[in-house]
Amino acid sequence: MLLEVTNLTKSFGGITAVRDVTLGIPEGSISAIIGPNGAGKTTLFNLLTGIYKPTSGQIMFNGRSIVGLSPDKVNAAGIARTFQNIRLFPAMTAIENIMVGMHSRLKISVIDTLLRNSAFHQQEKAVSDKARDLLSFVGLLHKANEVSRNLPYGDQRRLEIARALASDPKLILLDEPTAGMNPQETVAATQLFRRVRDELGITVVLIEHDMTVVMGISEHITVLDYGQKIAEGPPEAIRNNARVVEAYLGRRAAGTHQEESDHGDAA
Ligand code: ATP
Repeated sequence: MLLEVTNLTKSFGGITAVRDVTLGIPEGSISAIIGPNGAGKTTLFNLLTGIYKPTSGQIMFNGRSIVGLSPDKVNAAGIARTFQNIRLFPAMTAIENIMVGMHSRLKISVIDTLLRNSAFHQQEKAVSDKARDLLSFVGLLHKANEVSRNLPYGDQRRLEIARALASDPKLILLDEPTAGMNPQETVAATQLFRRVRDELGITVVLIEHDMTVVMGISEHITVLDYGQKIAEGPPEAIRNNARVVEAYLGRRAAGTHQEESDHGDAA
């Protein structure tokens, strides 16, 4: 397992957003985390990326605990992510959006930078070459110098993925990566996620509401409801899982007594 989460819990005051979740992500796999709104999916990503510290539980990544590491350190350890809402620098060009993140990781001295010497120029070239490679990988090289806010929505999403890839992650977490896309953009994005795994060897985990995407791409699915894992397995098993179907059909909207006994104060 590249990522192993054990008995992970996160409470915010009286709300337990993630409750005793255990899951494993095999290296080189494509997995999905699904569940109704408010199920705890984004909170789980925030725990995995150091934005939140767990109330309890363990997160092992690549053989070591990452609990308590800052988001920067988690990223340096090999986990990159994209967010539900696009977080590009809107006034910067596509290539600048990628390069800006890489600059913070350069091992170049202030003196080199001030002198603009050969060490500086070599690093600048390496950064720019890599950014161009990434733009090419996501199909945006021809738009390298376009200001990101002028890019179509699907392209902005691709650019975010390129930026996440710039940190050379072993694992990429995509939070609702096809939300707001039209059907053509969704198909193209799904192909891109597969290429990230197939061509770059990066393990992919996505939070996704579009069941066509989830069922079409995932090898393994984990289902959360009220912060708890209610099912996991391959797509066929999840599709036919009665508890999952119930969660999605909005059992709680019908207000059955079963709901209260299943979820207790988590509801
Ligand atoms: P969606 O699919 O709607 O994005 P989700 O499955 O990602 O939902 P989360 O955003 O993780 O769900 O939220 C899970 C629960 O935790 C919700 O009840 C939410 O209101 C609560 N929650 C999340 N973050 C916080 C916070 N910082 N403070 C208090 N409650 C929070």
